[in-house]
Amino acid sequence: MAQVEKRPSGAPAPLDWEYAPAPEARDIVRIRDRYGLFVGGEEVDPRSGEWFPSISPSSEEQLFEVAQAGKEDVELAVHAARGAFDDGWSGISPAERAKYLFRIARILQERARELAVAESLDGGKPIRESRDVDLPLAAAHFFYYAGWADKLEYAFPQRTPKPLGVAAQIIPWNFPLLMLAWKIAPALACGNTVVLKPAETTPLTAMLFADVCRQAGLPPGVVNIVTGDGSTGGYLVKSEGIDKLAFTGSTEVGKLIQRELAGREVKLTLELGGKAANIVFDDAALDQAVEGIVNGIYFNQGHVCCAGSRLLVQESIYEPLLDKLKRRLSTLRVGDPLDKNTDVGAINSKAQLDRITELVASGEEEGAEIYQPECRLPERGYWFRPTLFTNVAQSYRIAQEEIFGPVLSVLTFRTPEEAVEKANNTAFGLSAGIWTEKGSRILWMVERMRAGVVWANTFNRFDPTSPFGGYKESGFGREGGRHGLEPYLTFE
Ligand code: NDP
Repeated sequence: MAQVEKRPSGAPAPLDWEYAPAPEARDIVRIRDRYGLFVGGEEVDPRSGEWFPSISPSSEEQLFEVAQAGKEDVELAVHAARGAFDDGWSGISPAERAKYLFRIARILQERARELAVAESLDGGKPIRESRDVDLPLAAAHFFYYAGWADKLEYAFPQRTPKPLGVAAQIIPWNFPLLMLAWKIAPALACGNTVVLKPAETTPLTAMLFADVCRQAGLPPGVVNIVTGDGSTGGYLVKSEGIDKLAFTGSTEVGKLIQRELAGREVKLTLELGGKAANIVFDDAALDQAVEGIVNGIYFNQGHVCCAGSRLLVQESIYEPLLDKLKRRLSTLRVGDPLDKNTDVGAINSKAQLDRITELVASGEEEGAEIYQPECRLPERGYWFRPTLFTNVAQSYRIAQEEIFGPVLSVLTFRTPEEAVEKANNTAFGLSAGIWTEKGSRILWMVERMRAGVVWANTFNRFDPTSPFGGYKESGFGREGGRHGLEPYLTFE
């Protein structure tokens, strides 16, 4: 079992003083007992006749039941999307299309508090994050792509862009509404219709989004949502009626999908896992870097594909940086996601908690040294202490595999060349961070890093205008920005 270190040298006791509870009002979101499938503009019962419970990871209570879409249900959704595409969505004036997207963006803003509470209840992330990150960014994506809808020919001069048809979209549980926005906004802006499958553990905001679509007066069938487990995703991938598949999730499932689509005329984008290096040079502003490291790995419980899960520290500043980092860790508040003071919420599911626990145990067995701050964890729910490993060799599983939890592996380097080599020594290539005051060093490093996104003196910054995506086993294709339009278009 993990040794819980009492306190780093000189660190304050974590419970010297406590915050009073500051709970967000839970009843702002009215959760029904059951949610069906959203097909052809209506909520329908699944032909499969099957339902499954959605559990709140912070309390283990059942929040509602949701439909398990079978093969026939998925085909009905694809059929509805095809009908809406042929019946006019692809043909209406782009400016009209933009109006629907603007409308959706504004409704997301108006209903932001309700949706943020729903996201935190269903997925376990702190309300501070769903309120200040997920919701504003989801709305921003719709605003941004609304702006492109009637300017596609300017985005691709001398080419004639056309929509592809029906876009199948499969999303994970770490940013449910935000991933939905990343997928749906560019697809609709380009004139496609959509069948979206949310993750099994986090369907609530997708079902509330169905209501947003109705409120926006979106024509029936333009957006369809099929809930279910991996098998539902499998039916969607296999459906002959799709023209595009966009997937965000594990590398393992991404590879399965790629194999399944080989030889078919379905345009594919894969946004998969990561094992990002967050690299701190000895001339960096250390306090600022510590905040970036914490934000890089403990944000959203580390359930972030681009999380800075490997910290590379220049040897000369190893000790002062580690002292500061441990001190900062001891101030993180772990607990109720609906409390506005919470920094680290619940682990999304029992399965994910087991996976994190197993990987952390492997780190200890392989010889790494674990540090976890003292903190009280709630009795019910799925929790994991913010964790830091030192004495990590590059070959350890905790330095190679995506843990997708609040677990940081610390390694050291002496020269920039060594930093680059270690940073690139992974099967992934999604993101990286560099901390230094020298602009020239940032540029030197960026040229050599095999990562789709490199942040300099910051981490986990997202903007709808900026493309995001990976190299190597982190997938291919870009989402966000002008680049994010191309996967949803064909050119004459
Ligand atoms: P998955 O890749 O299984 O889930 C992503 C989405 O794909 C979900 O909607 C899932 O449905 C669906 N899916 C699962 N199997 C199939 C299939 N055969 N065909 C089509 N769709 C499918 O991730 P997990 O939730 O299992 O998480 C496992 C690990 O993956 C995590 O520990 C983490 O390391 C990594 N991960 C990475 C993410 C990223 O953003 N890069 C996001 C999520 C996970 P369902 O939810 O019903 O299983």
